[in-house]
Amino acid sequence: MIELKNRQLEILQIVKQNQPITSENIAKILNVSRSALRSDLSILTMAGMLEAKPKVGYFYVSEEERKKISNYLHTIRSGNVMSLPVVIDEKSTVYEAIVMMFLEDVGSLYVVSGGYLAGVVSRKDLLKAMIGGADINKVPISVIMTRMPNIVICYPTESIYEAAEKILLHQIDSVPIVEEKVINGEGFYKVIGRVSKTNITNQFVEIGK
Ligand code: ADP
Repeated sequence: MIELKNRQLEILQIVKQNQPITSENIAKILNVSRSALRSDLSILTMAGMLEAKPKVGYFYVSEEERKKISNYLHTIRSGNVMSLPVVIDEKSTVYEAIVMMFLEDVGSLYVVSGGYLAGVVSRKDLLKAMIGGADINKVPISVIMTRMPNIVICYPTESIYEAAEKILLHQIDSVPIVEEKVINGEGFYKVIGRVSKTNITNQFVEIGK
C-alpha cells in the first residue's frame, strides 16, 4: 500500500464528490495551479485510485472495484488463455530452428527430447550462435539452448498473474505451460501450451474493454 499525502487525500475526496471533474476544476477548488497538481494526479492514476478519461475528467475508483480487477486477474487460469506451443526436437539444427521461428511466427521455441521439455531457444540465442560463427547447418540447438533445470515453467492451473510475475522476474518473453509426468521417480514435463507477453497483453486489453 502506498502512503498518501494530505494533498492526495484531499484530491480523492474532491473527485469522489464531484466526479467526473477536470484537473482545472480540482485546481480551482484547491486554489492552486494545474501544474502544481500534475504529479499528485499522476500518482493517484498510476495507483489505480483515479481513472482519467480524456476530455471528460477524473473518476474515483473505489477500493472494491480495484479488488475486483485484482481478483479477476488471479482467477484467469493460464491453461484457459494459453496459445499452442511451438516445439522442436533437440537434434534439430540452428538453421532449422531459425526457419521454424519464421514459419510459426514466434519469438521462442520449446526444445523437446523424447517428447519432454529439455530447453528453450529464443531469438537472441540464435543470433548469438550466428555471430559466434557456428555452422548453423551442423550445430544442434541442444548446444545453444537454455536447458533444464533452468527453464521457468508454469502449470495450467496457475493464474495469468502468476505467469506474468514469472515473465517479469526472469526477464523472459514466455513460459511453457506444462503437465508433470513422473517416470521412475523422476519428473518430466510435457509441454501443452505457452503463455507469452502477447497473451498477457490480450488479457489486459480484454479487461480494459
Ligand atoms: P529474446 O532472447 O528474444 O529477448 P527471451 O527474453 O525470452 O527472448 O530470452 C532471453 C533468454 O532467456 C534466452 O537465453 C532464452 O533461452 C532464455 N529463456 C527464454 N524463455 C525462458 C524460460 N521460460 N525459462 C528459462 N529461460 C528462458
